[in-house]
Amino acid sequence: MREQLYLLVKLQKIETETSDIKAELGQVSKKLEKLDDERHAFEQALADEESYFDELKKNYRNFEADAQTNLSSVEKTEVKLRSVKTNKEYQALLKEIEDQKAKNSKIEDRMLECLDRLDEVEKSIAKKKQDQIELSEQLKSEKGIIAQDVEQKKKKLIELDTARDEIAGMIEPKLLEKYNTTKSQQAGGLAVASVKNAVCYGCNMNIPPQMYNELHRRDALMFCPHCHRILYWDESG
Ligand SMILES: [Zn+2]
Repeated sequence: MREQLYLLVKLQKIETETSDIKAELGQVSKKLEKLDDERHAFEQALADEESYFDELKKNYRNFEADAQTNLSSVEKTEVKLRSVKTNKEYQALLKEIEDQKAKNSKIEDRMLECLDRLDEVEKSIAKKKQDQIELSEQLKSEKGIIAQDVEQKKKKLIELDTARDEIAGMIEPKLLEKYNTTKSQQAGGLAVASVKNAVCYGCNMNIPPQMYNELHRRDALMFCPHCHRILYWDESG
């Protein structure tokens, strides 16, 4: 029984390690998703800024066209001015020219603002493109590291699987069945619990003294009266 219990403990260790590695592999795919999300968010921000840049350029061209139209109106009015007959008409046209010029000066102000903004956005886009190169290199190297890690973990899983089969083959079928049943009944999936100083480490409850004494002999299969796990005596306690 001593040897068999030892094998059960070993089996449980292997199974725990296996499920830990599987959980870690699950985390890895989340990590990869996160890296992809990061890249997508960055690409989106860059695309947004580029379309803003295009919109600004369009605005600028519109202002330019407005200014052009306005300027030809001024010219037309100036031509008209040469052939007016009355002072009143003359004054009215002067006023018109003045208004048109004032309007143009406003448009020119907006064009300048637009140019400033275009300049800023252009710089920001250039910076983002540079950052994008750095980010993509960084992501590439992170993914490389992750891929290596995944490969190692998968190798380890194969090793653990082989070891598990080997040990399971050395355990008496009935005991193995008992182990598997107990495991399926435990929330944490652990079927074997160590006992140290008369405390079951599966549930942290005290086991009866007589049982504890019997456990030291390690010649019978014993179960925790509280959590029903298979018990083994931890010799360090
Ligand atoms: Zn217990």
